[in-house]
Amino acid sequence: MTTIHNLGFPRIGARRELKFALESYWRGESSREELQTLGAQLRQRHWQAQAGLDLVPVGDFSFYDQVLDMSFLLGNLPERVRGFHGDALDNYFRVARGRSAATSDAWRLAKGSYGHGACCGGVAAGEMTKWFDTNYHYIVPEFCAGTEFKLDAARLLAQIAEAKAQGVRFKPVIVGPVTYLAIGKAKDDSNKLALLERLLPVYAELLDTLAAQGVEWVQIDEPILVTELDADWQHAFNTAYHQLKAAKVKILLATYFGQLQENAYLAANLPVDGLHVDAISDPGGVLPLLGLLPAHKVLSLGVINGRNIWKTDLSATLDWLDPIAQRLGERLWIAPSCSLLHVPVDLDSEQKLDPEVKSWLAFAQQKLGELRVLGKALRNGRDAVKAELAANAAALAARRASPRVHNPAVQVAVARIGADLGRRESAYAQRAAKQAAQLSLPAYPTTTIGSFPQTAEIRHARGEFKAGRLDRPAYQAAMRAEIARSVREQEKLGLDVLVHGEAERNDMVEYFGEQLEGYAFSQFGWVQSYGSRCVKPPILFGDISRQNNGTKAMTVEWTTYAQSLTHKPMKGMLTGPVTMLNWSFVRDDQPRSASCQQLALAIRDEVLDLEKAGIKIIQIDEAALREGLPLRRAQWQQYLDWAVEAFRISANGVRDETQIHTHMCYSEFNDIIASIAAMDADVVTIETSRSDMELLDAFEHFQYPNQIGPGVYDIHSPNIPTQEHIVQLMKKAAERIPAERLWINPDCGLKTRQWDEVIPALAHMVQAARALRAELAAHSEPRSVAEATC
Ligand code: GLN
Ligand code: ZN
Repeated sequence: MTTIHNLGFPRIGARRELKFALESYWRGESSREELQTLGAQLRQRHWQAQAGLDLVPVGDFSFYDQVLDMSFLLGNLPERVRGFHGDALDNYFRVARGRSAATSDAWRLAKGSYGHGACCGGVAAGEMTKWFDTNYHYIVPEFCAGTEFKLDAARLLAQIAEAKAQGVRFKPVIVGPVTYLAIGKAKDDSNKLALLERLLPVYAELLDTLAAQGVEWVQIDEPILVTELDADWQHAFNTAYHQLKAAKVKILLATYFGQLQENAYLAANLPVDGLHVDAISDPGGVLPLLGLLPAHKVLSLGVINGRNIWKTDLSATLDWLDPIAQRLGERLWIAPSCSLLHVPVDLDSEQKLDPEVKSWLAFAQQKLGELRVLGKALRNGRDAVKAELAANAAALAARRASPRVHNPAVQVAVARIGADLGRRESAYAQRAAKQAAQLSLPAYPTTTIGSFPQTAEIRHARGEFKAGRLDRPAYQAAMRAEIARSVREQEKLGLDVLVHGEAERNDMVEYFGEQLEGYAFSQFGWVQSYGSRCVKPPILFGDISRQNNGTKAMTVEWTTYAQSLTHKPMKGMLTGPVTMLNWSFVRDDQPRSASCQQLALAIRDEVLDLEKAGIKIIQIDEAALREGLPLRRAQWQQYLDWAVEAFRISANGVRDETQIHTHMCYSEFNDIIASIAAMDADVVTIETSRSDMELLDAFEHFQYPNQIGPGVYDIHSPNIPTQEHIVQLMKKAAERIPAERLWINPDCGLKTRQWDEVIPALAHMVQAARALRAELAAHSEPRSVAEATC
């Protein structure tokens, strides 16, 4: 009998109930009891949704983050919140969000990494970073040489009591000790591994506590096993699990998100009772693993994709599983590949989704339905689930054959892609001269990254238009008025390269996705990003092209209107193919690189239309390029190669005179700088203001050849940088990059800020540019005089 189980369920609620309850509690509009009650209801509902499974997770529910829960469980609270008395939950939110709760979340916009411990007088929020290669962000555990741990299992035990009372067959889920240390940060640069010795007794005590509760199985998550581990970290696994093997519970060691590869032997032979592996990421690793696995161990195979939203091919999965099931018998367990935290809750909520596309999808609830079918087939034979398998096969066949998915014209265009498509006519130096002649910009040109504040009126107009209550002419008039306002403000400020302000966009991916064939949008397909924040990734289901057989421009009208209002150059503003890809749920019937190529061709069409319409500078945002890096470094280059090529295809069809910009929302480029250079954008703008320009070192050491706009205005903070501060930052930048290749701009788009913050900040930026130009002129004059006299 195959055991079917689940590793984790999305906690946010099918209608984001948890989000709204949290935010209401934080605003002081509801009580702690109300929040706790809602939490209990969600847990109950989610356990019910998992009924019929042999084991469901407990402890996967969290009011903010499961890693932060783990820090509390282990008594590892940052020093700065110790000694706070009062309610445990409030203390928990204090670490999660910082003390000045209202501002701290606003500081952490939905982007790569967060934190830096910055805070306004209160308690600094814990730093956040991405959970492996997902879009979920956890609160980084903090360590120092003196860190002590102390078990506090109250919260987990309370959830266990609830599950028991509801008759749920469960297994507690915790983050394993090695992963917990690996994903944390030693604030004093001490060796985190030295803490293992102190950490393990607390884990042992926890396991004993669970055993005393009658718990049979505990799921211990160690996803760090799918990354490259050095000898010390491999050794830590042996130390940890040899020490924990005395526990009177059975341990299911869970790995996911990737391939065990060279860690397979280690993982197979740790003294635990079962091992879960991600058979979606690594189907090829399973058979070799069977050979390594000791004969008493359970092997749990993650056979349903916990990271994507497509239906599983149930018959093919069974074909693959049958011989393994024969070999392992009771020792085979099956589950989703990882926690379902990374997919939306329930497809049945979707009322507006195209029915054809909908019939191809499975969200968390539907994935568990698939798991039940697989379980039944393995136990009772396929005949027992004949109807379900037939329906599944029909849906998949319809998807494979759908003309919505396959567009011959796109495939022809992709087949025609040759090496020349991604290449500019001339090398940077020649282009730069022609662009300088055409644009006649001053030294230290000033610009912004694209968006201006999204006021309540703009949001309202967009909402009304979407809902059909505002007609197109009225909507266009509202947007044009906003564009005109942005242009006016920029002219007044004296910026050199203007933008139209992106008033018509609510989201940089959705805006383009909605205008591309091959994309669908859900109403409730929310996935937790961090805390109460969720994202709703669009669904890339088919071949990508612009509408009307690829001819319908997406941004030209707004951009040319904006350009008509000014003599200064107006930047066209697009989202790049790699970012579109990385922030979408992507079809699984072709490699991601193939979908990326199609996106690149569609964006290229838009770039060329903008150029044709007289736009001289085009920015292609690749905010999420770095996010797509595979977990294993050995696979980085392959990703970077196709990602950079996709960007080049989108950008490089233009004439030498047209200046291509790209923008990235981070600045850790040390390890990928060669690929950034290979993108060959004329100008790259990046986020640097908080790092005091130190992050430009990568560009200096690499001798980055093109122009750079290091951000001088931290747009995640309400602070307004002074002119002096900006001058100082730019001087630091000029120590690293020759001044003639520097631009002055904010870190990122300004859409989350207010106009009354943006105007003074940009005014200081422009003044700083003028001061720097004056200095530059003063320095170069004597030299030219001297040159003239000799
Ligand atoms: N052009 C976009 C904006 O300014 C870029 C956003 C981003 O990099 N995340 O809003
Ligand atoms: Zn950005």
